Amino acid sequence: EKAVVLITGCSSGIGLGLAVRLAYDSSGAFKVYATMRDLSKKERLLECVRGGHEDTLKILQMDITDQKSILAVKQNIEEKRVDILVCNAGVGLLGPLELLTQDTMQQILDVNLFGTIRTIQTFLPEMKARRSGRIIVTGSLGGLQGFPFNDVYCASKFAVEGLCESLAIQLHHFNIHISLIECGPVNTNFMANQHKTSPKESELQKIDAKTKALYQAYIQHCQRIFQDDMQDTENVVQVFLEAIAAETPALRYYTNTSMPFNRLKLSFQDGSQYIKAASKFLFPDEQLTDL
Ligand code: NAD
Repeated sequence: EKAVVLITGCSSGIGLGLAVRLAYDSSGAFKVYATMRDLSKKERLLECVRGGHEDTLKILQMDITDQKSILAVKQNIEEKRVDILVCNAGVGLLGPLELLTQDTMQQILDVNLFGTIRTIQTFLPEMKARRSGRIIVTGSLGGLQGFPFNDVYCASKFAVEGLCESLAIQLHHFNIHISLIECGPVNTNFMANQHKTSPKESELQKIDAKTKALYQAYIQHCQRIFQDDMQDTENVVQVFLEAIAAETPALRYYTNTSMPFNRLKLSFQDGSQYIKAASKFLFPDEQLTDL
């Protein structure tokens, strides 16, 4: 019997890569329900699986901000069960906090946090009843450490960490394993997409000169460093496979071993060393006076 996998956010990036990889798995061990918010974007996925795979891949519409669409997917699963639930859909948000609107902030939390919660809530009772299941969540370094001008994105991903870690303790008693795949920068549309919601140049005029300068320095500098650390989707997908293959999966997997300053964060728990080191690293040209 094939393991039934449901993945959210499969129109691009990591979700698409994972769906294709599992649908093509030589063992034929997976039946993948690749879901996406907007079915008009299914061409990319279809191009990757040209030549069949009807028996290992089904594409369904699912917007994780819409409970009805999640329930509709649940009803459309022929096997009436999900063995591996992959909560992958997520959006970024970049910009000085003072410029973010309530609407924009709520939207990102609605996808990254509540969308993940809704999806888990929908499929959990059936997993609990069977005393079996895997939940895999696409996590982020931004859920483990703060990054400037990613305040609300990091807040949403930190929240996901709390959600998963808390659930893991209970789910342990149901033979359900929850794992976070902690990604550093990945070569997807994610960065470009986040620029769509970030404040426009004209709006930047509304903030003070110092914040604006720091923001612009961050954007420039980060494009450079994130570029150096950027992983290909295939490498990240490999880590998902590792979690899937593990007999007893861990709570956290790291796709990228270079976790800037994480050790500082762990060994100096008042946070001061992390903030100092991250400031120096991310704003190398700034004079830091009062740290
Ligand atoms: P991506 O933008 O290519 O993929 C995100 C997917 O989520 C898209 O297909 C998008 O349509 C989908 N999505 C957004 N809102 C949705 C909704 N309401 N319902 C259903 N789907 C929705 O980028 P990606 O890098 O593949 O992102 C996947 C995950 O990886 C995200 O959770 C992201 O936070 C995380 N991540 C990405 C990076 C990176 O650098 N790319 C780093 C760390 C973590």
